[in-house]
Amino acid sequence: MSTDIVGHWIDGAESPGTSGRTGDVFDPATGALARRVALAGVDDVERAVASAAAAFPGWRDTALARRTRILFAFRELLDAARDELAEIITAEHGKVVSDAQGEIARGQEVVEFACGIGHLLKGGHTENASTGVDVHSLRQPLGPVAVISPFNFPMMVPLWFVPIAIAAGNTVVLKPSEKDPSAALFMAGLWRRAGLPDGVFTVLQGDKEAVDGLLDHPSIKAVSFVGSTPVAQYVHQRASAAGKRVQALGGAKNHMVVLPDADLDITADAAINAGFGSAGERCMAISVVVAVGDIADPLVEAIAERARGLRTGDGRRGCDMGPLVTAAHRDRVAGYVAAGAEAGARVVVDGRDVVPDADGSGFFLGPTLLDGVTPEMSVYTDEIFGPVLSVVRVDTYAEALALVNANRYGNGTAIFTRDGGAARRFQHEVEVGMIGVNVPIPVPVAYYSFGGWKDSLFGDTHAHGTEGVHFFTRGKVVTTRWPESDQGGLNLGFPRND
Ligand code: NAD
Repeated sequence: MSTDIVGHWIDGAESPGTSGRTGDVFDPATGALARRVALAGVDDVERAVASAAAAFPGWRDTALARRTRILFAFRELLDAARDELAEIITAEHGKVVSDAQGEIARGQEVVEFACGIGHLLKGGHTENASTGVDVHSLRQPLGPVAVISPFNFPMMVPLWFVPIAIAAGNTVVLKPSEKDPSAALFMAGLWRRAGLPDGVFTVLQGDKEAVDGLLDHPSIKAVSFVGSTPVAQYVHQRASAAGKRVQALGGAKNHMVVLPDADLDITADAAINAGFGSAGERCMAISVVVAVGDIADPLVEAIAERARGLRTGDGRRGCDMGPLVTAAHRDRVAGYVAAGAEAGARVVVDGRDVVPDADGSGFFLGPTLLDGVTPEMSVYTDEIFGPVLSVVRVDTYAEALALVNANRYGNGTAIFTRDGGAARRFQHEVEVGMIGVNVPIPVPVAYYSFGGWKDSLFGDTHAHGTEGVHFFTRGKVVTTRWPESDQGGLNLGFPRND
């Protein structure tokens, strides 16, 4: 970054804003204050939205072929910048570099999906629906839309929405997390180089003040939000009350059900990868292993052995797992481990003792495994968002299913088994939006849609895939007749088709 303050991106250029407020951005691996981020005030919101609103008519009317070419150019630039961008993400989020590269790759898939926008926007056409009458449908963009994203995927989550919204002809104001704001600014530079006109993509840095400004602004027509459940609920209510279309993806508590016939090694590997990847700061992380029957003892042993072998440290040093995003978050997660132990859970692997491979005093907590967790414990009820894997033991498949379905969240879940019938039953009966069968993190590919059930999503529409295209467009149906001059006449009855 060129300055110590990460600014907004308005009208095709970086801007420090006018609020005079800033937030701290840390390097989580060293604990050092790395830079500051501008926090938008009312005037900054106004300027950002005005720019997006001014750019809308021209962008809406830009030929699909030209829009698509810009999408293709952006895809190429993003692909080429992957290493550089991953370093930026790691420096502010803390996740290991290979993981940051992975999130960029998954985001890029949505760009590739949006490159086919010509096909995705095609409507239907019916000739002679009534005598001499044809009917066709079309989809049009909404206007300026807002995307508000969380800290844990500073690139992938914005890319779930931004490419589709832009390809469909909308203009976008992205409000990234103030904890890791630089990736969004980097993305703005790529869009510019790809040929996107100024104002079509705007970055508004900030906190609640910026979010509230966007939710209330009459020029913003739709809001895509991703973050914790209380904020998602708030955003959904406030934006809906302001008459906007809104999709608000919230928190999660993802269960991995392990049936007695599961392959022990594959299952233990999967639990480690999905539980401790990105230090558990993934909305699709596995946080609860539900061990059914007598697989529990060997499974806990196999997971513990692997967890003890993981190297925690600076994500730039080839470690397996990086730090948590802030000191406060690390302390909060460690507090849950203490509360679990106090409530009677067995701390099989204790990440509070970790000796990280890092300089300084980063925000580290090592992989932690708790056994004998029960549904009343706070370590079970709350979303922890850290490297803490809880094992709940049950006797039957029915108990496992009841546990998952009683949970307030319904983002992702997985079943590990060699029994196809049991897996089929699970995917039919479980009340969760995204399900993996021997796949621990079942994030759908870009041409399907991403989203949970219950308190994991407020609003009807999931992200990307055809639901994403529908979210960022609205439909029209046109009925057409070209009558001959002798086909007129008065008839006040309701028109019938024949
Ligand atoms: P967060 O809710 O604290 O913040 C998300 C966004 O909302 C940020 O841009 C932030 O600036 C803004 N914000 C925070 N508090 C606000 C308030 N009171 N009013 C208005 N805006 C506010 O979430 P986070 O800590 O950045 O991210 C982690 C959370 O996101 C976890 O709960 C995780 O499960 C969830 N998440 C969900 C998904 C999903 O697909 N369901 C994906 C990624 C993350």
